[in-house]
Amino acid sequence: MLKINKKVLAALIGASVMSASHLAHAQVGFPPPPPKVSPAAGVIDMHVHPDPDVFGRALTDIELATLAKRKGMRGIVIKNHVVTTNDRAASTMQQVPGIEVWGGIVLNKSVGGLNPSAVEWMHRMSGGRGKVVWLPTFDSDKHIKTLVDKDQSGLVVAVDGKVTPEMDEILKIIARENLILATGHVSADEVLIVVKRAKELGVNNILITHGLTNIPGLTIEQAKEVAALGAMIELCYLQFMTGPDAQYKWMTHWDKVGADTVAKAVQEIGADHLVLSTDLGQQGMMTPPDGIENQIAAVKAAGVSDDDIDKMMRKNPAKLLGV
Ligand SMILES: [Zn+2]
Repeated sequence: MLKINKKVLAALIGASVMSASHLAHAQVGFPPPPPKVSPAAGVIDMHVHPDPDVFGRALTDIELATLAKRKGMRGIVIKNHVVTTNDRAASTMQQVPGIEVWGGIVLNKSVGGLNPSAVEWMHRMSGGRGKVVWLPTFDSDKHIKTLVDKDQSGLVVAVDGKVTPEMDEILKIIARENLILATGHVSADEVLIVVKRAKELGVNNILITHGLTNIPGLTIEQAKEVAALGAMIELCYLQFMTGPDAQYKWMTHWDKVGADTVAKAVQEIGADHLVLSTDLGQQGMMTPPDGIENQIAAVKAAGVSDDDIDKMMRKNPAKLLGV
């Protein structure tokens, strides 16, 4: 006869071993209890999109910084496709003490494209929160040809295998001021050319923006090549949720790069060369701090170790930001 002990009872109700008092409090159909310490504690999210913006966003700078601080996060990097965010980062830190906020500039047409002056004024702004120079995103040739119209053209950072004179000048500023070069939405070929030139000019900090999705679309081999030159490859939680079955139509244009790809990248490229961020903040999507918590759970479930997560979400971002 089956002897009903605690273990058998737990198995019968589909739960792990737990005490009778816990069983009494089990609640089916509800989220798990809040963790005493958020898994996001100490994390720096290198890629968030708060309001004000020209696209629908879920939270303002201050709301997002407040939430990230409540979860114990160390910091956030605000990205905006059309205006600088270093100034906003400084104001946000004044309003929300206890968390670090950084910003920078995306070199789209709204700031004059590949415009060295815009980069010079950005890093000089009071507060010193301007750290990231993203190459063109939706104005890039790669983005336009991939997502808009293959017969139209956009901004390029390299021609005939060489970076353009404007790109060269900008790389020199990034090197001089020890900023971070983030590759935005330029092509894989452009990524390889610009990373090589950046290293020649002494750029220390390079992040390949969502490197393995269709824009830029690096192969694992190309990712290894730029990692060997000292670049870090960014993998964003937003792209865990994109692809043909995505929740919203705008998300279906982006290849899915999920937890299994992160696990594979850790094995093949190494956690020392990877950064996990969210790229979240869109209206109707989960908040970036919730995204960080879910991203950690997903990559753990895919077999990634706590040590490697610590590198990809805490140590490597801090290294790039020089903190
Ligand atoms: Zn983004």
